[in-house]
Amino acid sequence: MTSRTINASVAVIGGGVVGAAILHTLAHRGVDAVLLEGDTDLAYSASGTNSGVLHTGFDSTAGQLETELILRSAKLRPEVLEALNIPVLHAGAELVPQRDEDNEVIRALFENATANGVEVHLRESDGALLVPGESVTDPVAYTLGLARSAEAAGGRIELQARVTGIDQSADGLTLHLADGGVVTTRVAINSAGLHADDVARLVGDDSFEIYPRKGEFFVFELPERKTLDHIILPVPTKRTKGVLVFPTLDGRVVAGPTAVDGEDKNDWSVRPTARGEILDKAVVQFPALRGLDPVAAYAGLRPAGRDVNYVIGSSPACENLINVAAIRSTGLSASLGIAAYVADLLPGLGIETTEQKPTTPIENVEAGGLWWQRTADRYSASI
Ligand SMILES: Cc1cc2nc3c(=O)[nH]c(=O)nc-3n(C[C@H](O)[C@H](O)[C@H](O)COP(=O)(O)OP(=O)(O)OC[C@H]3O[C@@H](n4cnc5c(N)ncnc54)[C@H](O)[C@@H]3O)c2cc1C
Repeated sequence: MTSRTINASVAVIGGGVVGAAILHTLAHRGVDAVLLEGDTDLAYSASGTNSGVLHTGFDSTAGQLETELILRSAKLRPEVLEALNIPVLHAGAELVPQRDEDNEVIRALFENATANGVEVHLRESDGALLVPGESVTDPVAYTLGLARSAEAAGGRIELQARVTGIDQSADGLTLHLADGGVVTTRVAINSAGLHADDVARLVGDDSFEIYPRKGEFFVFELPERKTLDHIILPVPTKRTKGVLVFPTLDGRVVAGPTAVDGEDKNDWSVRPTARGEILDKAVVQFPALRGLDPVAAYAGLRPAGRDVNYVIGSSPACENLINVAAIRSTGLSASLGIAAYVADLLPGLGIETTEQKPTTPIENVEAGGLWWQRTADRYSASI
């Protein structure tokens, strides 16, 4: 078999939701772009193993790049969702105070949300914070939808195209693939998730490090007559948003995730202790889960930056490599904003862009079952 030879103005490395959104935006701004995904399909990594919640940014810290891009995404998303036929449960979220000190946190969240321009309400009866704009989607369908629409607008996608080497020259970059293929390009965008630091090192850039922060989930079927019609968010701590309980598009209920820092980027197992850790918290928030056995379990690995978050910009070692790394906890929600931000950097590197065209509509995406099933099957995580 002869190896692939590809030429493109821009090569996007990594086909999670961030890479797919970037390809989507570039294709709609008239840029000749190719997406290189090392795996056999898109969204098998963090983008296929998350909570699927489209956050509004109500609790994000004002002034941070992450917040700016979540809010920018929220403005871009309705037009895209409609064109892609992406299923979304507009469920809204509730944070109910469990202890006295939670009331102060909720008050601060209310003010934060208002400063960010996100609609929230305080419920008089119990002091709960209501966030009507929070919604749940299928993150795999979302990623595949962006990719299909990008292709319809002229973007290209190469699977099993793992980048293992990068050479720099006066004309741009030559990327070497694991199977012997070669990609020549002016600019490469490094959206390789957990492996973004490995990709950056290919040009001698060791300016950041990515480690896996594991999040485990359990999927439940509720007994007849019990339903959950909104997302239950715990009152957050500084480190994590905590264990949520949320409805899925197919009528199940998911509880999770945990937040466990690790070293092994290939460890997608669910720890034996995770069930107790999650259920102890989840049943307090949603007592209908008490005594139920989960029907499935899965784990996701957040691409966490060591002491950094949202590292976006040209690599210090190679101007033509744009790092889009350490998109740890909100990449599904922020992906369209990230993509627009990255596309805005391209003219500065000599890549012409046009005004963004309306999203190319596509039919319903066949995502091969809901994401939790795809993930649970692939990694055979034990309950
Ligand atoms: C437990 C958990 C819960 C979360 N909940 C939410 C949530 O509710 N809402 C939200 O907005 N966000 C959530 N997130 C965060 C979100 O999932 C991530 O921010 C987002 O998926 C990151 O996307 P990415 O494209 O950067 O990385 P990834 O999805 O990890 O994609 C990177 C891709 O790069 C590929 N790749 C790696 N190396 C190479 C190479 N050398 N060559 C080619 N390809 C390569 C990989 O195969 C992979 O497909 C959660 C994450 C986790 C794990």
